[in-house]
Amino acid sequence: MNGGSAIPGASMRLIDSHAHLQADRFGADVDLVVGGARLAGVERLLVPGWDPDSSSDAVALVERFGGLDAAVGVHPHEAAAVDAAGWDRIVTLAEDPRVVAIGETGLDTDRGFSPLADQLANLRRNLALALATGKPAILHCRSKAGKRDAQDLLVGELRAASFGDSATRDAFGERPPAVIHSFSGPVDYAEVILGLGLAISFSGLVFRAGEEASAEVVRLVPPDRLLVETDSPFLSAPGAPKKRNEPEWVAVTARWAAEQRGEEMELVGARLVEAYDHVFERHGR
Ligand SMILES: [Zn+2]
Repeated sequence: MNGGSAIPGASMRLIDSHAHLQADRFGADVDLVVGGARLAGVERLLVPGWDPDSSSDAVALVERFGGLDAAVGVHPHEAAAVDAAGWDRIVTLAEDPRVVAIGETGLDTDRGFSPLADQLANLRRNLALALATGKPAILHCRSKAGKRDAQDLLVGELRAASFGDSATRDAFGERPPAVIHSFSGPVDYAEVILGLGLAISFSGLVFRAGEEASAEVVRLVPPDRLLVETDSPFLSAPGAPKKRNEPEWVAVTARWAAEQRGEEMELVGARLVEAYDHVFERHGR
């Protein structure tokens, strides 16, 4: 924690579209972490779940702090572990007005913590819930270094679930039906994703070796579909503490996005807040 003063670009308006503040690592001082984010200029903050317990904890955290938003869903790593009863809890939580998105869900062929068949079944139930609720899906998608099998599979699943066609326009109107969280992948994959109308969120991952395409991708994203995130407590950007990333460090990635786009940080900051409000609709709040 440093109150934001030492972080480059911390004077711009900021959002963090993805921070797991309900994780154990924040248990002792989450109030200080949320306070530090606000001091650093983070005006919007979304807390996604990864399984039923963490989804319910996300809603409880939003209730405690106000001004935060929650997402509920099942991560690909947890796909095999969450049974029908667990999924019923997600479906019930998804109706809560504090829940603005479904996720995180997606596909991960890098670490393989759940068999691919379970991941696909899990992705399909999360996508169907997003369509049924009109709340966008938050999608994790990672392949092994230099590979793109998860990205290609994800595009196929999105198309099969009618994401990007008239079915999603009925459910979401002009808003994106899904967000690619912590973008990773080649430029032509990003072009397809953007063609389907999705939003893209960038994290500290963009600074890692093998993720060089992100610098080109961030220039392609329309301003109303461009988001940034920390994925706290993971994926620390350069300068952020390695052992526990925190939302205030989203400033590093936001400044990178502005630099890549050749745009003023002030303009990018204002648009990030607008994009967040465009993508994540607060239902009846
Ligand atoms: Zn995450």
